[in-house]
Amino acid sequence: MAAKILSGKEIAQEIRSQIKAEVDELKNKHGIIPGLVTILVGENPASVSYVKAKQKTAHELGFYSIQENLPEDVSEDELLKLIDKYNKDPKIHGILVQLPLPKHINENKILYAIDPRKDVDGFHPVNVGKMVIGEPGFIPCTPYGILVMLSKAGCQVEGAEVVVVGRSNIVGKPVAILLMQKRKPVGNATVTVCHTATKDVAFHTRRADILIVAAGRPKVITADMVKEGAVVIDVGVNRIGTTPEGKAILCGDVDFENVKEKASVITPVPGGVGPMTITMLMKNTLESAKAWHGLPSEVA
Ligand code: NAP
Repeated sequence: MAAKILSGKEIAQEIRSQIKAEVDELKNKHGIIPGLVTILVGENPASVSYVKAKQKTAHELGFYSIQENLPEDVSEDELLKLIDKYNKDPKIHGILVQLPLPKHINENKILYAIDPRKDVDGFHPVNVGKMVIGEPGFIPCTPYGILVMLSKAGCQVEGAEVVVVGRSNIVGKPVAILLMQKRKPVGNATVTVCHTATKDVAFHTRRADILIVAAGRPKVITADMVKEGAVVIDVGVNRIGTTPEGKAILCGDVDFENVKEKASVITPVPGGVGPMTITMLMKNTLESAKAWHGLPSEVA
């Protein structure tokens, strides 16, 4: 039987409506406007399109938003100064530096310079530490989006065998940690993480009730690697060509056409995890604004 297609686009839309309603209420009742700055270095086409989408969403939701475009050869010091400026700006509650950064800039140095209370991407070690020990803080946006999708789809996470393919700091590792937390209903899973040194990736993926793939390898997960009835979350976004109109052709890490015949639930690419990532960035920024103004917040 063909799988249910889990549309991140639809869930994202629902959450964005809730965020918009909260933003309006914050403005009207308290005079607070959530503020987000996105910082882009250079002109990497994927980064340019991600930042554009983030700014567009922030604007639609009624945020105060600023876009900083820096040249590819900007110095580390200049970037640090800009972060310091926004750390001190009371109108800004979220600072996002679009990754990857050019090679001459130390990415960790930049991420660590962001005030953890404005770290809406959830990459600062303070927030990573809080996530690991299960304290409130900023959860990285992509794993956060995956948690929300699993919850909205009513997937049984507690007790499930979850297999994560990929162990990056932005997707694989945090999603594995979050799903194994002693937390209901989206937690309490038994989690296995695969990477390039895993001896037999298929051995693990075939056992998965929930398979999360963030490898960055087009169609690396084929139907024979998936258990009948599994929930498959495809995080991968691979640019495999361009249309005659010059638009990027995208595909996931999962062989969607064949795996959808075997899975019970599957996310498409595009339109799956991607829209959720941006939405959770907005959610984190909204929660940050509330925390800065002493209102009850999920991140404090
Ligand atoms: P990354 O930093 O390149 O990490 C990829 C991970 O996958 C690494 O841990 C790597 O193992 C592992 N891996 C690669 N090939 C593998 C294979 N054949 N078998 C098993 N493991 C393998 O990538 P990332 O930043 O996590 O992103 C992963 C994908 O998700 C990319 O396509 C990216 O564009 C996409 N993404 C999408 C969103 C979204 O919002 N939709 C957000 C973030 C990322 P090693 O550690 O051993 O190298």
